[in-house]
Amino acid sequence: MTGLVQRIGEAGPITVERYMELALLDPDHGYYARRQPFGAAGDFVTAPEISQMFGELLGLWCYTAWQGAGSPHPAMLVELGPGSGTLMADALRAIESATGGPQPFDIVLVEASARLAGRQREALSGRGVLWCSAVEELPSRGPAFIIANEFLDALPVRQFVRTTAGWRERLVMVEDDTIAFVLGMDTNGLSASLPDAPTGRVCEISPARDRLVRDLARKLTAEGGAMLVVDFTAPGMPVRDTLQAVRHHRYADRLTTPGEADLAAAVDFAALGRVATVEGLEVLGPRSQGAFLEDLGIAMRAERLKHSATPETAHGIDQAVHRLTSPDAMGEDFAVMALLPPGAVPPAGFDR
Ligand code: SAH
Repeated sequence: MTGLVQRIGEAGPITVERYMELALLDPDHGYYARRQPFGAAGDFVTAPEISQMFGELLGLWCYTAWQGAGSPHPAMLVELGPGSGTLMADALRAIESATGGPQPFDIVLVEASARLAGRQREALSGRGVLWCSAVEELPSRGPAFIIANEFLDALPVRQFVRTTAGWRERLVMVEDDTIAFVLGMDTNGLSASLPDAPTGRVCEISPARDRLVRDLARKLTAEGGAMLVVDFTAPGMPVRDTLQAVRHHRYADRLTTPGEADLAAAVDFAALGRVATVEGLEVLGPRSQGAFLEDLGIAMRAERLKHSATPETAHGIDQAVHRLTSPDAMGEDFAVMALLPPGAVPPAGFDR
C-alpha cells in the first residue's frame, strides 16, 4: 500500500475534493511535492513548454493592460502555479524587449510546492522574485496583473452523482487495499445549488476555485490590475464528470496511482464568471485560446522567430503554432477569460 492509500484508508470516506488535495499537494506523497510533471520525460506538456511564444504573448498582454491602467508604480506581475517558471521567464524577456529597458513589475509567484518553487528559482535566477504559497499571502504593492495558466484545473472539485432519490456526494474510500468511489448519504448541504439532471449523471463544482476568484476579485477591485485565466474546459458543465488523471502523457485511472499521476478537472468558466460578476468585476470571454492567440499576433511572432531559424527549427515553430491554436489540438479545448475592475481600459484580445 502506498502512503496515500493508507492515509485515505485511515481518514475513512473522503470527498473527491479532499482526495484531489491529498493526491496533488500532500507534502510527503502528493504529486506536485514529489514528481517532475513537465516536459517529454514528465507526465504532460503545457502551453509555455510547447513554445516561448505563449509566455511572450501573455507577458505582453499584461504589459499593455498595465499601460492601459496608466503605467502605475509600483505594480505586480503575479503568476499562479508557475510550474517550471518558463512562462514567466518568456513573459519578462518579451516585456523587456518591448520597453528596450527593464520591466516595470514586482514579480510574485504563487506556488504551493517547495520543489517546483526551486525549479522556478533556477528559471528566473538573477531576478528579484517573491514567492507566496497561497493567494491569501499576496502582498499589496499596487495593481496586480495576474496570469493563471493551467492553475485552476489543479484546484479541487466536489462531485455529486444523480440517483433516483436526488443528488448524492461522491466519496472516495479504501476497500480491500484498493481506492474506490462510493456514494455518500446526501449532498452535505449543497442540494439547492445543484441543477436538475438525469439519473446517473455527475455534477462538478469547485468551492476552492470560487473562493480564489472571490479573493482575487476583491483585491482587483481595491488595488486595480487585471487577471487572465487560461485553462481547459468542457461542454455541458457543470453536469459533467471531467476529473482526469494523466501519467507519462497518457490518461490513467483516477484512483489507482494517487500521487504518481497528475489529477485535474476542467474549468467551468461560466461559474467563475458568475462569482467575478457578483464581486463587481467586468468579465470578458471566455473565448477559445486559438482565437485569442491569433488576435494577439501569434502568426506575426512566429514569422519573426522563423527569420533567424534553421529549416528544422522553423518547422518546429509552425508545429507549435498549430498545437496552441488549432481546434484539433489545444485551440478549442482551452479557453481564456479576463477579469477586470470596473472602468478598466479594454485589454487586447477581447471585444467588448
Ligand atoms: N502554469 C504552469 C504549471 C501548471 S501545473 C504551466 O502552464 O506550465 C499547476 C501548478 O500549480 C504547479 O506549479 C503546482 O505546483 C501549482 N499548484 C497546484 N495547486 C496549487 C495550490 N493550491 N496553490 C498554489 N499552487 C498550486
